[in-house]
Amino acid sequence: MMTGKWPEYRQFPPQSARRGLPRLTAPRAKPHVVAMVAGTDRKSGKPPLKIKLCSPRGFCAGVVRAIDSVERALDRYGPPVYVRHEIVHNRYVVESLRAKGAIFVDELDEVPDTQAPVIFSAHGVPKSVPVDAQRRNLLALDATCPLVTKVHREAEIHHRRGREVLLIGHRGHPEVIGTMGQLPDGAVRLIETLADADTFAPKDAGKLAYVTQTTLSLDDTAEIVAALKRRFPAMVGPHKEDICYATTNRQEAVKRVAPQVDAMIVVGSPNSSNSQRLKEVAERAGCARVALIDRASDIDWRMFGAIASLGLTAGASAPELLVEQIIDAFAERYGVTVETVSAAEEDVFFPLPRLLRENAAAQ
Ligand code: SF4
Repeated sequence: MMTGKWPEYRQFPPQSARRGLPRLTAPRAKPHVVAMVAGTDRKSGKPPLKIKLCSPRGFCAGVVRAIDSVERALDRYGPPVYVRHEIVHNRYVVESLRAKGAIFVDELDEVPDTQAPVIFSAHGVPKSVPVDAQRRNLLALDATCPLVTKVHREAEIHHRRGREVLLIGHRGHPEVIGTMGQLPDGAVRLIETLADADTFAPKDAGKLAYVTQTTLSLDDTAEIVAALKRRFPAMVGPHKEDICYATTNRQEAVKRVAPQVDAMIVVGSPNSSNSQRLKEVAERAGCARVALIDRASDIDWRMFGAIASLGLTAGASAPELLVEQIIDAFAERYGVTVETVSAAEEDVFFPLPRLLRENAAAQ
């Protein structure tokens, strides 16, 4: 999906752009970054700053699908559209969709009896949620990322084959709640840390399998899996890693940039798991000053006094617009040049839920 038509700093054209509609996920016309590369002002007296822009960064295919699901549902059914949980973990995205008519709820029982659609967030839901929605005749639209659904199916298959399922992940994260909720209560054991891996007592060491949250640190997870495998060599794992392509690529790009810069900014909300992991990865890769911020107005300028280089990335739920605004904010104080550091090309695309596709009526 990446073509020469798109400015190089755009990750890929979102599906809404292909429809020609003005969307949260649509690219903006203003080529901020390119203009600033050419616009370093030597006469201004501003100190020079090289910004190393990680690529890929920002929206992944699952996030684009989830946001477009809400926007398409608003178009098709009109407001309000109910969304169970934040559709993706980003404050700007949630506020923008709320302004367009989305109503965010924590649980289905907050949704009145209504003809309006109810959308499940990209993080996935326990099995009980669609069952409840069906019992109440709600129009449920599932925006769960297909890569999360893949993990759900793996857990189910292991369980059917009589294996005890370990889930490596963070307690309380909606994706973890959703994955644990695919199996009966108590069937999934949560492993959060190396200490958990070292002390876990299985029912039968010969019948163990593991799955993981999709947005974990690659390195932490590899350590936990290695510790479990040392203790339980017969443990079965995923054919292809559960940590998704977007998490992997964004962490790889940060690993390249972080050791080369004086400070680093990760654009993302504090409740975004993959953004938090990017901050940790940058710190471990040797960057002394790393900030996770939601938007340009959150920049603590005291942290960025005498720097000559800045790494910049964005979590998978953070819009590119916020990255551009941060570059703009630095350009007001520094003579900025921008260099993109690329770790991977991405062209992943997930179609919308069936009921929201253009030709849904004909299907
Ligand atoms: Fe899907 Fe990965 Fe994006 Fe999560 S971060 S929505 S698992 S592609």
